[in-house]
Amino acid sequence: MKIHPAEKKSSGAFLRACALLSLIAFVGLAVFVILRDGGAPVIKLTPQTGAASYATEFNLTLSSGRSALKDCTITASQDGKRVVVLQKLFAEPQLTHTESFHIPREAGFKEGPLEMVIVVRNNALLSLLGRGKSSLVQNLTLDFSPPRLSITPGTHNVNQGGGAVVSYTVSKPVERTGVAVGQYFFQAYQQPGGEWQCYFAMPHLMQPSDFKPKVIATDKAGNQATQNVTVLAIPKPFKADKLNIPDEFLNSKMSQYTALYPAEKSPLDIYKRVNTELRKQNEAELFKIAQDTSPTPLWSGPFLRLPNSAGRANFGDQRDYFYQGEKIDHQTHMGVDLASVANAPVPAANTGRIVYAAFLGIYGNCVIIDHGLGLQSLYSHLDEISVTMGAQVNRGDIIGKTGTTGLAGGDHLHFGMVIGGLQVSPVEWWDDHWIKDNILAHLKK
Ligand SMILES: [Zn+2]
Repeated sequence: MKIHPAEKKSSGAFLRACALLSLIAFVGLAVFVILRDGGAPVIKLTPQTGAASYATEFNLTLSSGRSALKDCTITASQDGKRVVVLQKLFAEPQLTHTESFHIPREAGFKEGPLEMVIVVRNNALLSLLGRGKSSLVQNLTLDFSPPRLSITPGTHNVNQGGGAVVSYTVSKPVERTGVAVGQYFFQAYQQPGGEWQCYFAMPHLMQPSDFKPKVIATDKAGNQATQNVTVLAIPKPFKADKLNIPDEFLNSKMSQYTALYPAEKSPLDIYKRVNTELRKQNEAELFKIAQDTSPTPLWSGPFLRLPNSAGRANFGDQRDYFYQGEKIDHQTHMGVDLASVANAPVPAANTGRIVYAAFLGIYGNCVIIDHGLGLQSLYSHLDEISVTMGAQVNRGDIIGKTGTTGLAGGDHLHFGMVIGGLQVSPVEWWDDHWIKDNILAHLKK
């Protein structure tokens, strides 16, 4: 059969068009599959300390873009011994998964290097081509030996609501160490000489018989050592105080808080929330600010008390609040109120760095000075702040003027001392003898 040249030409064009269409279809399909599959699963594992023990709790987070997770296998190997730590099949379609696991004690691994491999697959269509599969290799050092603690000998006389310091050494690098007191954990700081120092406190509301401070040290593998600190807990009576809240006070003071509680109509209702909720928030804020601290001490000598001032209220005062004869609240006064002349210049109680210089709720205009190792001093109700965040101050430098901002009825300085965020009695820190006997004596080698 003879093919006409024109027919031959059109048949060639037809084939080319078919090939092009196929190519477009193929590319389209590939793009569709790739888009449908999304990427490979993402594996996140914590902690990442490089060390582990059987107590270490690993937290695994898996996320898959578009294709549901299929399975996950975790194995641990050491010297040719391979143990399956976790094997999971995802029956229900899910794009994310979190899981906690331990290296099983039954595995009988010994201390030393261990390789952990996590392999995760999703239901990608192109899984045969290796898409949809991720793996993570984690090289760990298995360590089952807790750190050894050695606390500087001596008994710590600690007042209820007061502070103390302990110094100790730890036999190996640690991930976390400090002193636990009930619900509180006071962080320790390693000094250039290698020893750890930790300021801690007996919370004012804790019964002295319940005060059992413990040094805790946890290494990078999660092994923990604890040792009791030898203490003599001294009870302190706190004064009962009665505060009448007159309308005049509410009308003049609550306007600074109306924006915080727009739902409240009366100054009394605003006051109740300021004195409870805002007070709690501000106290919580102190624990955050305490993290911003120098690892070495910045202070020396006794702390300065506002010159020529009279004490108006003490630390730990148990305050009952009354409005028109009715009890509306109960709170503890967490500092010392000092009254001098109005707008008296306020000196920094000791050398340090300004870590707060702004309005702080119930405290009004407030300055907080960091003295290192979580020890901080607080100056509140200031009329004027004359320092800025981050500034270094020396003992006696003027940081502002007394005033009536925040919940102050009259012009005074509310002075506080803070250890690791917890407010403690400032009186101890004004006393040179107390500092020598209870702080410096415990820091001597
Ligand atoms: Zn006060």
